[in-house]
Amino acid sequence: MSPLRKKLIAGNWKMNKTSADGVALVQEIVAAAGKQTEVDVVVCPPFTALESVGRVLEGSGVRLGAQNVHPEASGAYTGEISVGMLRALFASYVILGHSERRSYFQESDSFINQKVIASLKGQLKPILCVGETLGQREAGETLRVVQTQLEAGLEGVGKDQIASVVIAYEPVWAIGTGKVATTEQAQQVHAFIRSLLTKSYGENAAEKVRILYGGSMKPANAPELLAQRDIDGGLIGGASLESRSFLELVAAASAVR
Ligand code: PEP
Repeated sequence: MSPLRKKLIAGNWKMNKTSADGVALVQEIVAAAGKQTEVDVVVCPPFTALESVGRVLEGSGVRLGAQNVHPEASGAYTGEISVGMLRALFASYVILGHSERRSYFQESDSFINQKVIASLKGQLKPILCVGETLGQREAGETLRVVQTQLEAGLEGVGKDQIASVVIAYEPVWAIGTGKVATTEQAQQVHAFIRSLLTKSYGENAAEKVRILYGGSMKPANAPELLAQRDIDGGLIGGASLESRSFLELVAAASAVR
């Protein structure tokens, strides 16, 4: 466990929860974990629930995140949302490069990189997702794929900015499937990511970057994953949709601090 990195548990609600459902969920999260300071907690509702959820979070330690952003500040981009719009709702994080966006919406590494740069410029902390498919893992390409996504996603990010970036290693085959990477598989990739960050930014900066694991993380498997040296928290899909499991994950992160 590094004293330089506070654990972070982030919930990715994906396309779930109306504004009212989201409010009900965060009311429970804030009531139970709104004052704790041992773990950073972030919820990422769909755009339509950001404002209402943000109001419930006011005055608590739970932070608001979005699930996507457009790199341009404004203009003719029908259906898109800018960094400034998210900041106006007091969002402080944004998930970028999620595998669902890469595969269903054909997002390229260079487009994701533009979003990373725009987010940092606008004081929004990117949670940059990287990870291999099952086919790529079976072909022995995991590290190459992760390296390409990481380096392309971070192009142009300065040494003074890297501590504001969160990386999420999400093996695509483990997302929403109930198949979780073994602790050894996850730790190996996390350590590899940190070694790449060390090469690019130096050890001091790399030691400050949080690297989350994502892919069927649940209260039952979290303690072992979170105890690994380079696993600094979780990006949680399914288990973030219910306060009980999400709070158990926050408690698990707090226990290994
Ligand atoms: C995710 O989509 O970021 C994720 C990790 O989902 P799940 O926890 O449901 O696998």
